[in-house]
Amino acid sequence: MNVLTRIAIYTICLFYFINVIHSFSIITINKNGNNKPVCKKFNATSPHSFDYFLLSIQWPGSACIGQQNCHVPTFVKEFTIHGLWPNSLKDVMGPTCCYNEALNEKLFSSLIPTMQTNWPSYYHPNEQFWDHEWLKHGTCAKNVSATNGQFNYFSSTLQLHSQLNLFNILQRNQIVPSDSITYNRDKIEYILQKNNIPGLVACTKDGRHLEEIRFCVDKSLRVVPCAPNQVNDVHTRNRCSSDIYYPTIKYKSLN
Ligand code: AMP
Repeated sequence: MNVLTRIAIYTICLFYFINVIHSFSIITINKNGNNKPVCKKFNATSPHSFDYFLLSIQWPGSACIGQQNCHVPTFVKEFTIHGLWPNSLKDVMGPTCCYNEALNEKLFSSLIPTMQTNWPSYYHPNEQFWDHEWLKHGTCAKNVSATNGQFNYFSSTLQLHSQLNLFNILQRNQIVPSDSITYNRDKIEYILQKNNIPGLVACTKDGRHLEEIRFCVDKSLRVVPCAPNQVNDVHTRNRCSSDIYYPTIKYKSLN
């Protein structure tokens, strides 16, 4: 066996050894109600470091566009919460799936009525959506005391959402849901900025509808302008047309 072959064999062995070690640091998780794992694995060794939060707020008039089995409950009249996501300045995404702690509603029972109204699921039982957001994103928010643990994570998110007053701010500026009028995306963002909530508009796949408004939030839970390198990456802003629909909410029964 020549030297080069030996080096190749040693390299392959080392590669397998590292993979085995890595797999020991990972815990495989239980599944959510959909039988789809929220996280395929947890990275138990991750330092859970992140730079800021991305608060993602959905517009129910667009959330079901192009989706099957999507149903907006009739009590929903304004923007609802999608999630609060630890994010990284160096990347498009922050850490996800940081530790395995099943959703336990007993830990945040006092928040549930507010969550049902402000953080409803449009697809499956609320708990499944909350479980997804908690496991995928909430478990990575541990290093900030205001979001450490299920109660703090959900409660801080609700508090941030309630401070935004998004629907009213847009309404006061003649941006109201319509299926026939389009609005300039930059103008919507300008209005938000003028009201000290510098949000970024995210659009549906076709680029024609306002799907979400996303806010960069610092670790003291203040809404701040997004770092320049994050503006277009966050996340689907750059697929918006210059003029977009802010459609009325359609209620239909779950099929
Ligand atoms: P995330 O993984 O946090 O980026 O969230 C994306 C997932 O959340 C997708 O599977 C979406 O279908 C789901 N999702 C987003 N909004 C809702 C909602 N209002 N109700 C239920 N699931 C949702």
